[in-house]
Amino acid sequence: MTNYNSIPTLSNYINGQWVTSKAKDFLEVKNPATAEILANVPLSPASEVELATEAAAEAFITWRRTPPTQRIQYLFKLKNLLEEHLEDIARTITLECGKTLTESKGEIRRAIENVEVACGIPMMMQGSNLEDIAKGIDEIMIRQPLGVCAAIAPFNFPAMIPFWFMPYAIACGNTYIVKPSEKVPLTMQKIFELLEKTGLPNGVVNLVNGTKETVDAILEHPTIKAISFVGSTAVAKYIYSWGAANGKRVQCQGGAKNPIIVLPDADMEMTTRIAADSAFGCAGQRCLAASLAITVGDAGKTFTTAMAEAAKNRVVGNGLENHVQMGPVINSQSQMRIENLIEKGAVEGGNLLVDGRNPKIFGCEKGSFIRPTILQDVNPSGEIAHTEIFGPVLSTIHVNNIDVAISLVNSGNYGNMACLFTSSGAAARKFRYEAEAGNIGINIGVAAPMAFFPFSGWKNSFFGDLHGQGKHAVEFFTQTKVVVERWRDEWERKF
Ligand code: NAD
Repeated sequence: MTNYNSIPTLSNYINGQWVTSKAKDFLEVKNPATAEILANVPLSPASEVELATEAAAEAFITWRRTPPTQRIQYLFKLKNLLEEHLEDIARTITLECGKTLTESKGEIRRAIENVEVACGIPMMMQGSNLEDIAKGIDEIMIRQPLGVCAAIAPFNFPAMIPFWFMPYAIACGNTYIVKPSEKVPLTMQKIFELLEKTGLPNGVVNLVNGTKETVDAILEHPTIKAISFVGSTAVAKYIYSWGAANGKRVQCQGGAKNPIIVLPDADMEMTTRIAADSAFGCAGQRCLAASLAITVGDAGKTFTTAMAEAAKNRVVGNGLENHVQMGPVINSQSQMRIENLIEKGAVEGGNLLVDGRNPKIFGCEKGSFIRPTILQDVNPSGEIAHTEIFGPVLSTIHVNNIDVAISLVNSGNYGNMACLFTSSGAAARKFRYEAEAGNIGINIGVAAPMAFFPFSGWKNSFFGDLHGQGKHAVEFFTQTKVVVERWRDEWERKF
């Protein structure tokens, strides 16, 4: 039974202090495996974004003058603290997000990698110069920070996604505001406790919880110079257009519908193992989850049969338990939405080869579970072949050759990831060349770029120019200044 007296109400972190929100409205944060209420999260009003922005703007004055070599010392400390508290943060991610403990630990590793890469800022932020662009005149390009920047994050990677941006932003000399997903705000609370321990000057990083009102205040605040968003495509479009209309630099990563092509010459044992992890890992709630498998020729039967086995055998349950391979989806609304889409796929003509709806999970009767599901031979022009499901559902389509398969890949509205399974180098090269997606996997199921490469969504999966992570992040969080200089002296006059 829930003890309402012991349920914490989360605070914001503004100007180096944990601040009680004056919000009128709060949402319950629930463990999706058990429906237990974990906390109440405030839906912070615009006035609290104002306080965070003022603090960040004040901190920027001295932070940008702090040498990069000193700025990154805080990131070295943060890396060590994240390593030290990895188990505890992983448990929090699993509690509020549902993924397995192994998946949560993997997520934190990815966050840490971004901190490590951002520690290279004294090299990465360097500009360029050329002497004597005309006689006695030199030209220098400098990178300078923008000022106050902000991130708006989704629910599916509560630790990792803000790290695609924040470490680079502050290493470059900006100050920062994070607005986590209201569905999973506990992880960032933990991480901000660690940020506090690094001794970062007050106001350099700030945390404001909330939903639309909070986001709109960020979008409209004239002091905020740049916004990084990750979430659904509809909201990404809104944030991109409204943020840009308000004069901000904006990068928005949206939704996805990731196809994989399986050729008959693929190593089928490896392919099905990898494809099952891609489709069902994190309960299909990765933006790089395989969602549509396009089988070619003889791959149709072998792949589909092996995937059905993998789907049935996956151990589903509470992610805190060691033997569990797949946790719940984020909440009961999401479960209902996914179940309706499965139904729709069947109505459109797909064969429900494995139906994961309405599972009974012992000990988690109130949780939001769907077992791995396979919709075979879905209608290529139907809704299910093109709609993001964001749950453990793999649809299949069978075709006769690679050209048709690639044209199906390219007919989608999204372009987050596309993968090919084959043992042919020529097929791999053709696919890499022709596939319209920004993250490509060849015999890889989740083609997630490492921190030193850009997370390159295309089409409706990304709005903007510069992506998150690595060199793109450094460019996004700096503005270039070009200086043309002439210094005449007596020595020069002689020539
Ligand atoms: P979401 O769009 O519902 O929410 C994302 C953020 O936007 C949250 O912080 C939320 O509070 C805020 N928000 C929601 N509605 C808003 C509105 N009307 N106005 C202003 N702000 C609003 O996304 P989600 O359900 O949390 O996350 C799942 C989605 O994120 C999926 O579509 C998934 O593909 C996508 N995603 C994409 C990537 C990528 O790299 N492309 C990575 C992770 C997740």
